[in-house]
Amino acid sequence: MSSERASRIDTRVIHGGQRAEPVTGAVVPPIFTSATFAQAAPGEHKGFEYSRSHNPTRYAFERMMASLESSPLTEDDDPSCGTFAFASGMATMATLLDLLATGDRIVSMDDLYGGSRRLLSMVRERSQGLDLAYADLSDPEAFSAAMTPDTRMVWVETPTNPMMKLADLSALAKIARRKSPDAILVCDNTFASPVNQRPLEHGFDIVMHSTTKYVNGHSDVVGGVAVVKDAALAARVRFLQNAIGAVMNPFDAYLTLRGVKTLAVRMERHNTNGLAIARFLEQHPKVERVLYPGLPSHPQHELFQRQMDGAGGMVSFYLDGDLDRVKKLVAELRVFQLAESLGAIESLVNHPAIMTHASVPSETRSALGITDSLVRLSVGIEHVEDLLADLEGALSAV
Ligand SMILES: *Cc1c(COP(=O)(O)O)cnc(C)c1O
Repeated sequence: MSSERASRIDTRVIHGGQRAEPVTGAVVPPIFTSATFAQAAPGEHKGFEYSRSHNPTRYAFERMMASLESSPLTEDDDPSCGTFAFASGMATMATLLDLLATGDRIVSMDDLYGGSRRLLSMVRERSQGLDLAYADLSDPEAFSAAMTPDTRMVWVETPTNPMMKLADLSALAKIARRKSPDAILVCDNTFASPVNQRPLEHGFDIVMHSTTKYVNGHSDVVGGVAVVKDAALAARVRFLQNAIGAVMNPFDAYLTLRGVKTLAVRMERHNTNGLAIARFLEQHPKVERVLYPGLPSHPQHELFQRQMDGAGGMVSFYLDGDLDRVKKLVAELRVFQLAESLGAIESLVNHPAIMTHASVPSETRSALGITDSLVRLSVGIEHVEDLLADLEGALSAV
């Protein structure tokens, strides 16, 4: 598979980690629903004992994700190349947090996905005694100040949701290695997708995704995945995945593998549609400000150019007006549907303060800039003229 690893990501999304099924030659991996696998003699089996521990369909998806995230691990290091699929993005995060011991310190981005912040602040601080330090990791100096020698894990999201701030992954990795060499560096890469950004290439140890979003891309499966760069760390995550058991089931692994095969062509369209819509909104008189790393006006546009291969379909903006005007706007939209979630082929609009980020305390929300006039778009892959016309019509009605 080394030659396949060298190929471009547009090719790897089709073939990464894949091979014909050995018994029948099936090109598409079958959905192996079997909970258990026959053994020739006690302990003598083909690498599969019980489906929580190992499942061939899940493995096929996991190996694909290892390839897409540029994992250096092979099947000689780990049967699924150090990559582990879970029942959801949150199940992935919960399992990774179990790499930590009671009372360990974790430094995390302040502008986190609401559910991630909820798991840290409302569950693991209580149940695991985690010492939580939130900082604006888009500022390497703020990170450096938060990064103490006893920090055991760093949790970064970039671009952030919904403020679209970027963290300089190479710079953070360098600072972290200097301050606390053994800290595990995790990047939640859900917003970017591996087509637009690959954190392991920037010195991170683990990359995770809510595969519910761009990776599957069709709003019909909830799931998550973690790709681990180091074999010893991968062995620890493999142990935890099996011990905790929040695994992705074979049907979802099949569907998500099917979905990811179009990731490169989907992202190409998300990138061009996202940029066109960000440009349109930026010049619109009823829009105060647009947050999109692909725009030259984004304060970290230079970092975007260095670190990412595209800016994706996530566009946030401040409408010039109050909550009533925002409600009117979303009510007028026809193609953009009002819904949570993101990263799928259909365009969605979301009001972070009331919807996705309602679980974030209101003081934190206002400190981050998540006000009532902030709107977040997940731009899909429809024809861009239809999306622009939808926004134009709704904006002229408010
Ligand atoms: C959705 C999301 C999650 C949580 O994933 P689920 O699949 O919904 O459990 C985590 N991080 C980010 C950035 C997300 O967008």
